[in-house]
Amino acid sequence: MALTWPAGLVVAGHQAMDVKYDRGTGHGARAWREFPCGKPANDEEDTMATHDSDDIDPAVAPSGTGCVECLQAGQWWLHLRRCARCGHVGCCDTSPNQHATAHFHQTGHPVITSFEPGEDWFYDYRSGATFNGPTLRAPHMHPLDQPVPGPAGQVPRNWMELLNE
Ligand SMILES: [Zn+2]
Ligand SMILES: [Zn+2]
Repeated sequence: MALTWPAGLVVAGHQAMDVKYDRGTGHGARAWREFPCGKPANDEEDTMATHDSDDIDPAVAPSGTGCVECLQAGQWWLHLRRCARCGHVGCCDTSPNQHATAHFHQTGHPVITSFEPGEDWFYDYRSGATFNGPTLRAPHMHPLDQPVPGPAGQVPRNWMELLNE
């Protein structure tokens, strides 16, 4: 499947990191190795996992277009994750502030899904497994004209040096 990306996703001479994580073919695995961002180290998928309805609420809309805490603090992020329980949008573990994982620790909400274009995986912090989740309430990604990293105006020039391993 050919993927085309809006010009806005090409950042600092880098093709967008948000290569679609194409399960089965391993497509996108390279991007994940470079920017694992909260994804499990293995590519195994726990497709048999069941999840309590308490963990995922498909009716809840995302909290906004960017990481809640970063927007409040004037910080920036690399990739965005959406809490499948309450809609909280937080930044990934490669981002400096790791607010998605902090949200899990603060609230106990155990499941996130990507809030990046072209990605639809779910991840359970308790098991470390990715799985196919239900279709949540739209929107399923941040606006396409929002830069990666983002948000516009908050990303320092040396952002690549500030990422977490
Ligand atoms: Zn954040
Ligand atoms: Zn939550």
